[in-house]
Amino acid sequence: MSKLLNTPVEYLKGVGPVKAGMLQKELGIHTFGDLLLAYPFRYVDKTRFHTIGELYRETPLPEGREVQLKGVLRRLEKFGEGRRKRLVGKFRDETGVVDLVWFQGIYWVEKMLTPGKAYVAFGKTSVFNNSINLPHPEMEELSEVNKRPALTFAPVYSSTEKLNAKGLDARGRRRIMEALFEKLDAAILAEGVDAVLPENLPEYLRKKLRLPNRYEALRWIHFPENEQQLNDARRRLKFEELFFLQLRLLHTKLRRKKGIKGHVFEKVGELFMRFYEEKLPFELTNAQKRVIKEIRKDLGSGSQMNRLLQGDVGSGKTIVALLCMLLAIDNGYQACLMAPTEILAQQHFSGIKEQLEGLPVGVEYLSGSVKGKKRKAILERLAAGEIDILIGTHALIEDWVQFKNLGLAITDEQHRFGVAQRAALWKKNKPLPPHVLVMTATPIPRTLAMTLYGDLDVSVIDELPPGRKPVTTVHKTENHRIQVFEFMKKQIAEGRQVYVVYPLIEESEKLDLKNLMEGYEAISRAFPKPQYQISIVHGRMKPADKDFEMQRFVQGKTQIMIATTVIEVGVNVPNASVMVIENTERFGLSQLHQLRGRVGRGADKSYCILMTEFKISNEARERISTMVRTNNGFEIAEADLKLRGPGNIEGTRQSGLLNLRLADLTQDEKILKTARDLAIRILEKDPELNHPLNAPLKYWLEVVGKGTRHWGLIS
Ligand code: ADP
Ligand code: MG
Repeated sequence: MSKLLNTPVEYLKGVGPVKAGMLQKELGIHTFGDLLLAYPFRYVDKTRFHTIGELYRETPLPEGREVQLKGVLRRLEKFGEGRRKRLVGKFRDETGVVDLVWFQGIYWVEKMLTPGKAYVAFGKTSVFNNSINLPHPEMEELSEVNKRPALTFAPVYSSTEKLNAKGLDARGRRRIMEALFEKLDAAILAEGVDAVLPENLPEYLRKKLRLPNRYEALRWIHFPENEQQLNDARRRLKFEELFFLQLRLLHTKLRRKKGIKGHVFEKVGELFMRFYEEKLPFELTNAQKRVIKEIRKDLGSGSQMNRLLQGDVGSGKTIVALLCMLLAIDNGYQACLMAPTEILAQQHFSGIKEQLEGLPVGVEYLSGSVKGKKRKAILERLAAGEIDILIGTHALIEDWVQFKNLGLAITDEQHRFGVAQRAALWKKNKPLPPHVLVMTATPIPRTLAMTLYGDLDVSVIDELPPGRKPVTTVHKTENHRIQVFEFMKKQIAEGRQVYVVYPLIEESEKLDLKNLMEGYEAISRAFPKPQYQISIVHGRMKPADKDFEMQRFVQGKTQIMIATTVIEVGVNVPNASVMVIENTERFGLSQLHQLRGRVGRGADKSYCILMTEFKISNEARERISTMVRTNNGFEIAEADLKLRGPGNIEGTRQSGLLNLRLADLTQDEKILKTARDLAIRILEKDPELNHPLNAPLKYWLEVVGKGTRHWGLIS
């Protein structure tokens, strides 16, 4: 097979070692193949020319407009010193003059341009002192431009200042791409397309979906001749990306199911039954029952379970986890529950310990802060099998933690853990890995679930325990402060309790604490003792003090709880009916949803008041209006994805799964769905992809699956 695509970019016409170094450093482009996969991020129309006169006739003058001008460069002059230094060119056509301005790469620009010559200048207008100029325009000699056909869709590649300064601006990149396709075409002519750029989608798939072949798609994504080609190329390349991602995930899932034996939990034993009959403080919801059934089926199947448990805030995932852990113990195994923060892990520990009181179950807590003798004792008892349930932070997956026979590993709020951590859980038992149950804190958008957790089975708790009431949510600005206080007083007079929450972000911790203390003082003045009692909790307090303050609120001794986001998870005070969130604009959507989940758990009517300054960004406004509009966690998750994009949703970046080049999970749900469905169908018929027609898939999967860099696999 041809090695063309593995050739270092340095050897491409017009690149050389300096530019190659830049491409490598700035964009991670090493080889011809990398270059081919660095798609344009947009296109501009190069068939249309503007005249300077027509631009000047507009009122107001066009600002930030992309224009292409044909004219003569009259003069090049340098002005200013040091950082203010700039190079200005007078550019004239038959209808007027504009200034071309460069602030960077002046040396290089000056060398490339010759006053007196005719050029095509392309750039974005900017208006200064009533005149139009073009900062950092692309320049090309008119004679060069005239040699080739103008493109309706001229590709624009992502660039950086450093690349621009080295002549790798939009035009430079376009030239390199042209050189690349020249090489590619020559090689294909000599060796055949299969040797140079093998197709990775079987023909039957391409036919079915009417997708162009790989070569066409790649050519058209860089140099489309019309809109149809561009659309076809995009469709094919997006599909390809999502399809292989799904194929890989589903193939892994299938292999595990068939190949990896799991402990068989066949007994519903004494502990489970005793807990269910004597200790369970409420009737399970139908959704909880259904989910437990699904999990039990997995646990008895003989294969290893890998399941995702999704459910909205407060839907009751913890009790499901606990029942499953009891199943494990009844069958002679240990279980563990891992949470992302110390506070949450502690809460699980004390909650579960309390619920299991009187039952012969050994429960322990372990985190990085458990040290010395205590840690040693726990580790010894764990290895001896004297501890049945271990609850803690990610310390649980450290190598020094050895179980006797771990049968079930549960992680809460998986979206804060990376995929690597999930894999580490697997290794916690030999020879058989434990069953793995992953629980999310907030719902995940469908597309994200399909990609991030595409290798897991999914159970959804889609029902809240009875008695939950939708929370009325309003947005109030600072000038309504007095009104908000009055409202709090009314609720307290009715015997209710109130949370007031402040953001606490690590980077601005000092300032945030100051805010919190000022808020505390203001509230103390408005709610004087002895009529009102106030609790305050924040991350800087000693655990014992925190606990003391929490307890006072839980027992109803205080009416107001002022806190940072430590109460985000887990706290349960049914009598609290008002949640006031300060500086709401600084919270993310899922955090706001979590916080709001603390109210609406008992009182007849609950309220969430989102406080902000008068002026906030559009994005913050959008977040707030989403909260006001809906109580549904799944809807909020979708909105969050749209607002922030998949790359910014917690956990996605670490996962490495979402290095998508073209596909966009917010827009390409349909393609994703098609890709997943087809991958499922293909694997159902041909699980190991041994059919000759599926040979390209098998080849692609095996090489990609090994984690080789994308292009290593082509030859
Ligand atoms: P999450 O799914 O957010 O982790 P939790 O497991 O913390 O929710 O449960 C939230 C609250 O609901 C807890 O106080 C729990 O005891 C209670 N709860 C769970 N299931 C039920 C149920 N079926 N009926 C009544 N209350 C329930
Ligand atoms: Mg929970």
